[in-house]
Amino acid sequence: AKQSGAGRYVVFDLEMRDSFERRVALEGDLRSALAHHELQLHYQPIVDLASGDVVCVEALLRWSRPGHGWVPPLQFIPVAEETGLILAIGEWVLREACRQARGWHTGLSRGLAPAVAVNLSARQLQEPGFADQVAAVLAETGLPADALVLEITESILMKDRETAITRLRELKALGVGLAVDDFGTGYSSLTYLRSFPVDILKIDKAFVDDVARDQEAAQLARAIVELGRTLHLSTVAEGIESVDQCDVMRSSACALGQGYLFSRPMDAAGLWELLQSTENG
Ligand code: C2E
Ligand code: CA
Ligand code: CA
Ligand code: CA
Repeated sequence: AKQSGAGRYVVFDLEMRDSFERRVALEGDLRSALAHHELQLHYQPIVDLASGDVVCVEALLRWSRPGHGWVPPLQFIPVAEETGLILAIGEWVLREACRQARGWHTGLSRGLAPAVAVNLSARQLQEPGFADQVAAVLAETGLPADALVLEITESILMKDRETAITRLRELKALGVGLAVDDFGTGYSSLTYLRSFPVDILKIDKAFVDDVARDQEAAQLARAIVELGRTLHLSTVAEGIESVDQCDVMRSSACALGQGYLFSRPMDAAGLWELLQSTENG
């Protein structure tokens, strides 16, 4: 037993070294990704469940890493957060999303262009100058403030509540929309939720998954929509994949939905085609 224990130790060491080296390589490549235009935004529609209209699109970061293909965000965003690179990446995401959204607003008839939703990391929210950055990007790109929604996860909001409230108030003053992302997974204190100047609750996919086959899950989702109504917040059901899930959420009076049922995230060209087809038909 002793020997196999020692043997395992060696294997463990090698694995650690391997993953450490991979980490360092990832970090180096990520550092140059911005400069070499390897980052892209894809967009996923958020639809009005009553009319089917695309009222907003969420910007989702994609990295085309040479030799690795497309790297999903959950594989590199944590590294970007630890190294602080997320500040530069996040600023790029914000500017790029606003720039492209401004294009939809100038290219489509009045009222047909969707808002754009951008995900924020904890580090961005901690930056004292973050609201000034958002104001500068809006001014520079010409996107109206009410066409931008900033998504912040419930767990980020709850981790440093005082900073979050300060920052959200500054952002709210600019006129942008604010959404609580992944709601239901972050152990919100309802007292705090009430004091955050947010507009939208995004019900985490975990709650939506079972609504079509489990009465309890459906009632929980309904309760979150009800909570939203009480706090004057609009609700988005995330990760809707089936017609049945959609029906349950719609009949729960959830206003908005997002998920593969409506559309997978697509590149800017694909989204533009979709938006133009809604204008023509
Ligand atoms: P999120 O903000 O909760 O985004 C929704 C995720 O769910 C996206 O994954 C989307 O592709 C996926 N999704 C949407 N509908 C469905 C569905 O019907 N079924 C399933 N199975 N999945 C669905 P993605 O693009 O891999 O992004 C993962 C996470 O990475 C995001 O979760 C967000 O937390 C983070 N992220 C993405 N882009 C950014 C960014 O620009 N900045 C920051 N800080 N985080 C980002
Ligand atoms: Ca999000
Ligand atoms: Ca989410
Ligand atoms: Ca999520």
